[in-house]
Amino acid sequence: MSIFTLEFYTLIKQYMADSKIWLSSPHMGTNEEMYVKQAFDTNWVAPLGPNVDAFEVAIQEYVGEGVAVAALSSGTGAIHLALEILGVSSGDEVLCQSFTFSASANPIKYLGANPVFIDSEKATWNMCPILLEEAINDRIKKGKKPKAIVAVHLYGMPYKIKEITGISERYNIPIVEDSAEALGSSYNGIKCSSFGAIGILSFNGNKIITTSGGGALVSKNKEYRKKAIFLATQARDDAPHYQHSNVGYNYRMSNILAGIGRGQMEVLEDRVAARRANYELYVNGLAAISELEFLQEPVGYFSNRWLSCILTPSFEVREEVRLLLLDHNIESRPLWKPMHLQPIFENAPNYSNGTSEDLFNRGLCLPSGSNLTKEEVLSIIQLIKTVFS
Ligand SMILES: *Cc1c(COP(=O)(O)O)cnc(C)c1O
Repeated sequence: MSIFTLEFYTLIKQYMADSKIWLSSPHMGTNEEMYVKQAFDTNWVAPLGPNVDAFEVAIQEYVGEGVAVAALSSGTGAIHLALEILGVSSGDEVLCQSFTFSASANPIKYLGANPVFIDSEKATWNMCPILLEEAINDRIKKGKKPKAIVAVHLYGMPYKIKEITGISERYNIPIVEDSAEALGSSYNGIKCSSFGAIGILSFNGNKIITTSGGGALVSKNKEYRKKAIFLATQARDDAPHYQHSNVGYNYRMSNILAGIGRGQMEVLEDRVAARRANYELYVNGLAAISELEFLQEPVGYFSNRWLSCILTPSFEVREEVRLLLLDHNIESRPLWKPMHLQPIFENAPNYSNGTSEDLFNRGLCLPSGSNLTKEEVLSIIQLIKTVFS
């Protein structure tokens, strides 16, 4: 076989993909294919059906707290609907955690509203309550009370629930709880996605469980779920013909993908345990290197450890570790670049204290998939150690 043939190229690509250690790759359980096959066998190849219903019930039972769930096509779509349901519209301001993935903030722009970014605190790396309150008072003084708060449980670590919820209640500004990275995390035994006026989940390919792509809207308010499903299915009025008095969306989850989700919910607790075990291996294996820091769980906090992150002493050391791993075909990734430093949001107001910028400069996400072997994690640890010896 010539090295120039497509066949050879495909073979090499396959080999590379097989031997590469990914940051966070899908990890199927046992029953996903069966539920998908059931959908084929019964011809429920549609954006509704028994898998969607059963997937919603499984999430509902897992999160508890009497929540209602709407399965949707993405976490981003869920945030879009959540903001609209909470009354955000053109010209409004929405307070948003700066240290996050852009999907937390983009839906604010879909509605013609404007994000106001809030920096993080050091204990959870999430929204700083002091800055949040400062920002609310300042925005009110400038003439506009913010319409909503998008708070994020980044990397699976819950934000300061008590403080942020307290501010939300005191100022009467509802929270969209971005739990895209935090399914399985909890605070004082209560599951993430049940704390905000509306919580959202993501089942994208790299999340703790996946439907290949998908999301959900979660709320204790049953009316919000009803509204979400109405908007997600083109906002059809109650009539025998197609009648519309609202702009709608096509955001519902398909019955095929919900089949994958059903199977994934059955193994969620195992996936959480495996990711937490990865984190423990990293912490113990790198304990001798005093230059490295980890994000610890404050008392009452339980993180699903979606991604295990390290803080190195400097940007230069972070890059040294990242490039060394890359050289060995191991994927790692700098922590999220804060939204207030993104070109797309450069004109948005922001209330910062330097925390997220520092985390971005020094932090690195390590391979964290639930399908990593112990040997793989130990070999990554050995590699990282060489940088510090
Ligand atoms: C993944 C993610 C989203 C978006 O979810 P999708 O399902 O990919 O649209 C939103 N917020 C955060 C913090 C995420 O990590």
